[in-house]
Amino acid sequence: IFGDERKNSKGLNMNIISESTPFFAALEKFKDTTWNAGPLVNGELLSGQMNEIVSPFDTTKFVGKLTFANNQAIEQAISGAQSAFNSWCNTPVEVRATALQKLADLLEENREELIVLCTREAGKSIQDGIDEVREAVDFCRYYAVQAKKMMAHPELLPGPTGELNELFLQGRGIFVCISPWNFPLAIFIGQVAAALAAGNTVVAKPAEQTSIVGFRAVQLAHQAGIPKEVLQFLPGTGATVGAAITSDERIGGVCFTGSTGTAKLINRTLANREGAIIPLIAETGGQNAMVVDSTSQPEQVVNDVISSSFTSAGQRCSALRVLYLQEDIADRVLDVLQGAMEELIIGDPSFVKTDVGPVIDAAAQANLNAHINHITQVGTLLKQLSLPAGTQNGYFVAPAAIEIDSIKVLEKEHFGPILHIIRYKAANLNKVIDEINSTGFGLTLGIHSRNEGHALQIASKVNVGNAYINRNQIGAVVGVQPFGGQGLSGTGPKAGGPHYLTRFVTEKTRTNNI
Ligand code: GLU
Repeated sequence: IFGDERKNSKGLNMNIISESTPFFAALEKFKDTTWNAGPLVNGELLSGQMNEIVSPFDTTKFVGKLTFANNQAIEQAISGAQSAFNSWCNTPVEVRATALQKLADLLEENREELIVLCTREAGKSIQDGIDEVREAVDFCRYYAVQAKKMMAHPELLPGPTGELNELFLQGRGIFVCISPWNFPLAIFIGQVAAALAAGNTVVAKPAEQTSIVGFRAVQLAHQAGIPKEVLQFLPGTGATVGAAITSDERIGGVCFTGSTGTAKLINRTLANREGAIIPLIAETGGQNAMVVDSTSQPEQVVNDVISSSFTSAGQRCSALRVLYLQEDIADRVLDVLQGAMEELIIGDPSFVKTDVGPVIDAAAQANLNAHINHITQVGTLLKQLSLPAGTQNGYFVAPAAIEIDSIKVLEKEHFGPILHIIRYKAANLNKVIDEINSTGFGLTLGIHSRNEGHALQIASKVNVGNAYINRNQIGAVVGVQPFGGQGLSGTGPKAGGPHYLTRFVTEKTRTNNI
């Protein structure tokens, strides 16, 4: 339905030997590679103090060295992006789109290196790495096509005879793109590609934990023909680089994915700075629930719960946190669930069999373990896996399932492999819906029911951006399940959806009466 240039990437089917054998051989090539990364300002790699980057699954394993951007780098990057804006904004959208299509090709050509980086730098599984590259490619192609549709020609509007009314869309200026460590390639590239397609120049700040993969992606973007001044790369912490670039009066917009707290902080920074009133596109956290009624098929439910809660070690904003089970089916589901959890393979994510890798860093590990300790005092620990030998040098958290009484005891999002379970009576379904809505978050919702009317009713009453019926609730596909939430979960518009670019552009109406 999209035509050739808008086909989603095929990804890779590891079950097809003729595809997987060369793939694994290619991964091997990067297993001992190390990288030197740092700010790319006007295309130049700036040197400075080097920080050692190690793997979250084994902190004795060296990945590379990274230089953070200093004030001089920030200043040069912003002024470079500012002087490049006019020419990029006036570059025909077809040319911008062609560069993004080329970037998509280069991401695919360099797939193995990027996957190994996702594994070694971010601790993601091989399957997650494959999906990252695929989604990054899809974002480039989708926004390239979308930008052409929206921007190639002005929209003609009616008017009296002799008067020509036209509506133009154009880039806003410098877009600051701040991306998270949990999708160090896909979300990084998604933000950047959208901003560039719409005619903005970009100052990109990756999460400090996963800057090398972003660094490689920017090098590929430059190679694809995105001018070096148009895309600037500034690794660093939120408190230094993030604060400096969001408070700069020269920027034209901010696109941020991360925590709700940081999104609010950015909002305050934008409000307090000098300069224009500019948009913040924020994609933040969730307190995502799944509601399972007694008509559901327990094995299918468990399959989807395992995938929704424990894929990427639960480090997805879409991940399932609270499973509501109708009491007539609860014991059966929990029985199958505990058995299925036993099957999860925890360990080094560079092994293809690994299901659950580490969490991102020591702070995340400590917070999640503290939460498990606390919540098992107010609830009941149903199951916690033991960590296998060989995980002691990494930031592993043992997946856990805990029964609680109410979603309210959670207080905030717990970003890891922890599933909470609440039993409900059929007569109390409306209370369940109110309870889910009362969190203020609104990202994903899972529903399991064989009664379609019932499922649709729940989907319509819970305030979320993405509702999934009888399937898992992660892994939104670009152009297929536009992704993003409401309330505390974000501002919209949805990534990978037809309205995303509208927030990256400014509109100009031209009335011509010559
Ligand atoms: N789009 C991802 C998914 O559907 C989640 C993105 C995120 O965690 O920020 O699983």
